[in-house]
Amino acid sequence: MVSRVTDDLSGYTLAPPADFVLPFDLPALGLRGRVARLDAVSSRALSVHPLPEPAQRILAESLLLSALLGSAIKLEGRLSVQLKGDGPLSMLVSDYFAGGGVRGYARFDERKAGNMPAKPGFGDMAGKGALAITIEMTPGGQAYQGLVPLDDEGLARSAEGYFDQSEQLPTLIKLAAGPIYRAGEGQGWRVGGIMVQAVPEKTMGAITETDDWQRVKLFLDTLEAFELLDTSLSAEAVLWRLFHEDEVRVQPAQPLHFQCTCNENKVLPVLRTYPLSELTELADADGVVRTRCEFCGTEYAFALDSLAKPE
Ligand SMILES: [Zn+2]
Repeated sequence: MVSRVTDDLSGYTLAPPADFVLPFDLPALGLRGRVARLDAVSSRALSVHPLPEPAQRILAESLLLSALLGSAIKLEGRLSVQLKGDGPLSMLVSDYFAGGGVRGYARFDERKAGNMPAKPGFGDMAGKGALAITIEMTPGGQAYQGLVPLDDEGLARSAEGYFDQSEQLPTLIKLAAGPIYRAGEGQGWRVGGIMVQAVPEKTMGAITETDDWQRVKLFLDTLEAFELLDTSLSAEAVLWRLFHEDEVRVQPAQPLHFQCTCNENKVLPVLRTYPLSELTELADADGVVRTRCEFCGTEYAFALDSLAKPE
């Protein structure tokens, strides 16, 4: 069902305060997009990662970016956003699974963080590198990957570059993330974002030359981080604030949840590829090899003798 957004939002069910993606379109302009916000999901995903705050911020943004991009494709598998750079934030992965599941992790290399500015920007953290978007249409099926250089300005700008170069699809993306503190729960992360994109069959490259496109770009530039993050502000109210001069239509919001796909049957074959001598070194004093899923923090423990390759 498609509803038109008006200044009177009492008539229909609004998107929830957080952990959703809300698809919308601006039919008269040949544009479509989505608004998304994560709170419990991003807090859960980040809770197992002991990263410095600037790295957490980028990981939170990446979770949201995965959800924006993945939910826009009719896929049964997953979409992954991957960052690889020569900075201290050397590697980051976030996954969106069909049905709204999200997870992610990042590696931070303290040794490379020596001469960081007090408030490091994206370029200081990631360095020079690449952003890869990998789409697996069906679970475990053939994967398609697009690769673009990282943009020092951030993940959103890097992802715009991906659409520009890999898809020739004019795209605007804004992301904002911020730490939240709740009594008894400690620190969490909230992250919000919006993507606006040309409808492919209607308009190609030339749309970026139109006044409408420039106007939408200008509107998005006025968007404050709090508008993306404040859970007391509905996504529909934000859309109305931005686009009330045009007709804005929304589809029902899609809920997002934390999801990890790890299990014992996936971990075991990986460990079994190691020679027993190495596994013995990995084992704790009690003869048990313990590994931890980097995405969700689940610990797996195997007795050494259960890891010997079946003859
Ligand atoms: Zn896991």
